[in-house]
Amino acid sequence: MGNKVVKFGGSSLADANQIKKAAAIIKAEECRRYVVPSAPGKRFSDDIKVTDMLYKCCELAGSGVDFSDDFQLIKDRYNGIIADLGVDMSLDEEFDIIVKELKARPAKDYAASRGEFLNGKVLAKYLGYNFVDAADVIVFDTKGMLLLDETVKAVRSRLKGLDNAVIPGFYGRTTEGVIKTFSRGGSDVTGSIIANAVNADIYENWTDVSGFLVADPRIVENPDAIETITYRELRELAYMGASVLHEDAIFPVRSAGIPINIRNTNRPEDKGTMIVSNDYDFSRESLGHTITGIAGKKGFSTINIEKAMMNNEIGFGMKVLNVLYNNGISFEHMPSGIDTMSITVDSAKLEPVREKVLAEIRREVAPDHLEIEDGIAILAVVGRRMKNTRGTVARVFAAMAHARINVKLIDQGSSELNVIIGVSENDLPEAIRRIYDMFINSEK
Ligand code: ASP
Repeated sequence: MGNKVVKFGGSSLADANQIKKAAAIIKAEECRRYVVPSAPGKRFSDDIKVTDMLYKCCELAGSGVDFSDDFQLIKDRYNGIIADLGVDMSLDEEFDIIVKELKARPAKDYAASRGEFLNGKVLAKYLGYNFVDAADVIVFDTKGMLLLDETVKAVRSRLKGLDNAVIPGFYGRTTEGVIKTFSRGGSDVTGSIIANAVNADIYENWTDVSGFLVADPRIVENPDAIETITYRELRELAYMGASVLHEDAIFPVRSAGIPINIRNTNRPEDKGTMIVSNDYDFSRESLGHTITGIAGKKGFSTINIEKAMMNNEIGFGMKVLNVLYNNGISFEHMPSGIDTMSITVDSAKLEPVREKVLAEIRREVAPDHLEIEDGIAILAVVGRRMKNTRGTVARVFAAMAHARINVKLIDQGSSELNVIIGVSENDLPEAIRRIYDMFINSEK
């Protein structure tokens, strides 16, 4: 029997109906032995996540305000789920402990962790699986950094001899015994760690979308899902804001060579997206577009510098970058010409030190011309196949030219994994649509 770790996000477990779907998925394959649940999420768009309700109770408790009405809403959520699932259990004892603890020591992480803890109890009971408290197996140091080796050891020894287990996501315990959570969305990280520890064949991450999409559905109507993406491609797209998975969920499985499969609890028949390493057998995929995904991000500025004979001036670039460094600004891209240099930075980071940066660049390198251009969007066309395909960049530019979109900046990394172009923010949606048409629609 193989073994899969299956993580279900908050919307997949938001009510009894969703939990039944998750349970049917788990039971459909015997190898789905280790289950990592989130806390109940939103049932409808302006619903409140249990995690947020818990943060609120903690805040009230911290200011000495009565939080019983707010806590009652949390109880109602779980009691409703228990009743609708028809399981014979009560969480009253756990509720009492939580209330007492919040009154005595209103700690944020402890409060938030209870969402997953209670949901794990319910799910374990409903599935007939063992419940394993994440506080017993996920270990942090006293500063709150995950101790992966200790954790892996603890998980292995705790799961030894168990055929199955529900291990709540999002939290663990420090070596001093204090409950600690990952950052928001951190159940993804727990799932990844458990997958590493049990050496899973695959880490299935069940959510409410059928994987990563080639482009943002708010921009491109009904875009295709990405069937297979490498970790490196994912990083490029995630950096540009295409987020489905917690960033820290990659490392534990990547280092162990375990693929992640993003799946949709509401459409289990969809294959979802496989996130794999470069040595994956790609012949297994059915689709093979030249590009894997397109992502765009607004909110950039370029600092444009001109100086005659710039290329002869040793240390010119270093001096300019030093100014940014001294002002705590990282740069995103830096294409240069013989006598010109243009540096793309995050506008929000630049704003507070804008005049200071300009003055310091003037002082350091005495440019002939210096200006900042705001309102730039960066667009990344990402794809591992571009490396072996001719004409990709030409097609990107043809798409821009047909749409009469002015390209302000071009950058192709040496990895040939992506082509970055900068356009005016207003042109971004159209640019993405044109590239999608050029590479996805026309390759169908
Ligand atoms: N429940 C936590 C959150 O809302 C963690 C998670 O769902 O992954 O952020």
